Amino acid sequence: MSDKPLTGRATADRQPHSLAAWRRLGGGAGLALALKRHSPEAIIALIEAAGLRGRGGAGFPTANKWRFMRAGAEKAGPGACYLCVNGDETEPGSFKDRLLMEALPQQLIEGATIAAYAMGATEVIILVRDEYRAAAAALSRAIVEAEQTGLLGRDILGSGFDLTMRVHASAGRYIVGEETALIAALEGERPVPRHRPPYPAVSGLWGRPTTVNNVETLSAVPSIVEHGAEWYQGLSHTNEGGTKLYGVSGCVARPQLIEAPMGTTARELFDLCGGIRQGRALFAFQPGGGATAFLETAELDVPLDFAHTKRAGSSLGTGALIVLDDHACPVAAIGRHMRFYARESCGLCTPCRDGLPWVAKLLDTIEAGKGTRGDIDLLHQHVALSGPSGRSYCDLNTGALTPLRSGLERFGDIFAAHLQGSCPVGRA
Ligand code: NAD
Repeated sequence: MSDKPLTGRATADRQPHSLAAWRRLGGGAGLALALKRHSPEAIIALIEAAGLRGRGGAGFPTANKWRFMRAGAEKAGPGACYLCVNGDETEPGSFKDRLLMEALPQQLIEGATIAAYAMGATEVIILVRDEYRAAAAALSRAIVEAEQTGLLGRDILGSGFDLTMRVHASAGRYIVGEETALIAALEGERPVPRHRPPYPAVSGLWGRPTTVNNVETLSAVPSIVEHGAEWYQGLSHTNEGGTKLYGVSGCVARPQLIEAPMGTTARELFDLCGGIRQGRALFAFQPGGGATAFLETAELDVPLDFAHTKRAGSSLGTGALIVLDDHACPVAAIGRHMRFYARESCGLCTPCRDGLPWVAKLLDTIEAGKGTRGDIDLLHQHVALSGPSGRSYCDLNTGALTPLRSGLERFGDIFAAHLQGSCPVGRA
């Protein structure tokens, strides 16, 4: 994280705060204000005015999601309603949620409590990626402390609002981060995506209204309630509110997580990371994780928010910038992503289960200098036939094919050069 956090009370170290330390930093003010001064509807209006959009990758307006949940709860009648916190961060390049859960569990708990109050949830379940053991431990400790001090449980801060919260360790698959697969996992079923509609807001966990929100999204909520929508909007460089956690990895001198105004450019972020490593030149970067299209030097000054990144031909995704320098072979880089997504396919549908390993094998052959023009033509045909939707049940296949589609468009000459038996760029 940057040394000068803009929202919340982020610190550069990754030691979890105790509740007392969190309070000394001013923590808890958002929750107190929310429960004592605001109605649930007023909080949703505040989140809408702040322009908060989901930080898990899709960028869906948070306030709309919370309204869907209230409508779903009204229709479903009395009974449990769930807020599931998606801490199953598995997107290649993404590590923002891990640091938020490890260092600032109280901020997430506070944000989830305010969100549950606003949307009418009765229980919060934080699903944490299996490998994130330190994050799960920090959250579990912080939940116990919150329960012991009246910040969770019955009649929170004397407001009459009751809420339970618990941590659930994921059994560990990429697809568990897909919201309907996450719900299936919590029900003890095999985590494969379910058809939407019905959306979880109508029928989610055990058939009850459910909202799945990302860790970073909920972590932004306490400071919005404390300081107001205008303050949050004002932090941004563009008309999309607030700040963003940008995680920069790959060929930079100092890979790191940086909280910066929404709309910060890749040039500014790479400068903060000490530039491209070993004095080399930038070749290309993915702005939002493994499943986003490549951008190049010409796009270094694009404000990295949802709208501008889309207009530039990619997407903000999780804000995880993966950087390739001019010694990094894009065919090898795409092949690595492809092997990951092929391994992580849940196996439900053919284009993903059989298509991705087939593509990965073809890419390996081309990268090894043993491919033919026909292999490259096949890859072109495959992405064309898959179409923008990936022709699969969920987004995994679509996302996996995105860097391939973009690589074929942007780096056709490098794919072709591999047919001569060598890579003109080098090995990633
Ligand atoms: P989505 O746009 O389909 O849905 C966004 C959210 O809005 C969902 O919670 C959905 O339930 C809700 N919603 C949308 N329309 C609704 C309606 N009419 N009624 C009620 N609710 C509605 O996107 P998604 O499937 O949630 O997420 C896909 C994204 O996840 C991709 O952009 C990908 O980049 C990202 N991703 C992230 C990670 C990670 O590790 N963070 C991993 C894989 C994928």
